[in-house]
Amino acid sequence: MICIRPSITAIKDQADKRFLQGDTFDLLAIKPAPCKCNHNLYDIGLRFPNKVLGVQCRCGHIHASSEIGWYASYMFTDTEVMKDTITELICTTLI
Ligand SMILES: [Zn+2]
Ligand SMILES: [Zn+2]
Repeated sequence: MICIRPSITAIKDQADKRFLQGDTFDLLAIKPAPCKCNHNLYDIGLRFPNKVLGVQCRCGHIHASSEIGWYASYMFTDTEVMKDTITELICTTLI
Protein backbone atom coordinates (compact mmCIF):
# COMPACT_ATOMS: atom_id res chain seq x y z
CA MET A 1 0.00 0.00 0.00
CA ILE A 2 1.13 3.51 -0.71
CA CYS A 3 -0.58 6.66 0.43
CA ILE A 4 0.13 9.87 -1.38
CA ARG A 5 0.12 12.68 1.09
CA PRO A 6 0.80 16.05 -0.47
CA SER A 7 2.17 18.73 1.75
CA ILE A 8 0.14 21.91 2.06
CA THR A 9 0.98 25.26 3.60
CA ALA A 10 -1.41 27.50 5.51
CA ILE A 11 -1.86 30.92 3.93
CA LYS A 12 -3.95 32.33 6.79
CA ASP A 13 -3.93 32.11 10.56
CA GLN A 14 -6.67 29.81 11.76
CA ALA A 15 -9.19 31.70 13.91
CA ASP A 16 -8.47 29.65 17.03
CA LYS A 17 -4.73 29.58 16.33
CA ARG A 18 -4.77 25.83 15.70
CA PHE A 19 -2.32 26.67 12.94
CA LEU A 20 -0.67 29.82 11.65
CA GLN A 21 0.26 31.18 8.25
CA GLY A 22 3.28 29.32 6.97
CA ASP A 23 2.66 26.10 8.88
CA THR A 24 2.88 23.01 6.71
CA PHE A 25 0.95 19.79 7.04
CA ASP A 26 0.59 16.45 5.33
CA LEU A 27 -2.83 16.28 3.76
CA LEU A 28 -4.42 13.10 5.02
CA ALA A 29 -7.92 13.28 3.56
CA ILE A 30 -10.25 15.50 1.59
CA LYS A 31 -14.01 15.78 1.57
CA PRO A 32 -16.32 18.28 -0.11
CA ALA A 33 -17.74 20.93 2.17
CA PRO A 34 -21.53 20.96 2.59
CA CYS A 35 -21.80 24.75 2.40
CA LYS A 36 -22.38 26.92 -0.66
CA CYS A 37 -18.77 28.03 -1.14
CA ASN A 38 -17.70 25.09 -3.27
CA HIS A 39 -14.53 24.30 -1.38
CA ASN A 40 -13.17 21.17 0.24
CA LEU A 41 -12.39 20.29 3.81
CA TYR A 42 -8.95 18.98 4.67
CA ASP A 43 -7.86 16.60 7.37
CA ILE A 44 -4.40 17.85 8.25
CA GLY A 45 -3.84 15.48 11.11
CA LEU A 46 -5.11 17.61 13.98
CA ARG A 47 -7.05 15.49 16.46
CA PHE A 48 -9.25 16.65 19.30
CA PRO A 49 -10.42 13.57 21.20
CA ASN A 50 -13.82 13.84 22.82
CA LYS A 51 -14.45 17.28 21.43
CA VAL A 52 -17.02 18.59 19.02
CA LEU A 53 -15.54 21.25 16.80
CA GLY A 54 -17.29 24.05 14.99
CA VAL A 55 -15.17 25.73 12.35
CA GLN A 56 -16.84 28.76 10.84
CA CYS A 57 -16.73 29.08 7.08
CA ARG A 58 -16.27 32.40 5.28
CA CYS A 59 -19.98 32.24 4.40
CA GLY A 60 -20.97 31.89 8.04
CA HIS A 61 -21.80 28.18 7.87
CA ILE A 62 -20.42 26.22 10.80
CA HIS A 63 -18.59 23.09 9.75
CA ALA A 64 -19.04 20.81 12.72
CA SER A 65 -17.03 17.68 13.31
CA SER A 66 -15.94 15.54 16.17
CA GLU A 67 -12.40 14.55 16.98
CA ILE A 68 -10.94 15.23 13.51
CA GLY A 69 -10.25 18.87 12.79
CA TRP A 70 -11.47 19.52 9.24
CA TYR A 71 -10.28 22.82 7.81
CA ALA A 72 -11.35 24.71 4.71
CA SER A 73 -9.21 24.27 1.61
CA TYR A 74 -9.09 28.03 1.03
CA MET A 75 -6.91 28.31 4.14
CA PHE A 76 -4.10 26.52 2.30
CA THR A 77 -1.97 26.70 -0.80
CA ASP A 78 -2.41 24.53 -3.86
CA THR A 79 -6.17 24.19 -3.61
CA GLU A 80 -6.54 24.27 -7.39
CA VAL A 81 -3.98 21.54 -7.83
CA MET A 82 -5.69 19.49 -5.17
CA LYS A 83 -8.96 19.38 -7.07
CA ASP A 84 -7.19 17.42 -9.78
CA THR A 85 -5.40 15.09 -7.44
CA ILE A 86 -8.15 14.15 -5.03
CA THR A 87 -8.27 10.62 -6.31
CA GLU A 88 -4.57 10.26 -5.75
CA LEU A 89 -5.09 10.77 -2.07
CA ILE A 90 -6.85 7.48 -1.83
CA CYS A 91 -4.42 4.83 -0.79
CA THR A 92 -3.73 2.58 -3.73
CA THR A 93 -2.21 -0.82 -3.92
CA LEU A 94 0.90 -1.05 -6.04
CA ILE A 95 0.98 -4.03 -8.33
ZN1 LIG B 1 -17.54 26.09 3.93
ZN1 LIG C 1 -19.09 28.45 3.02
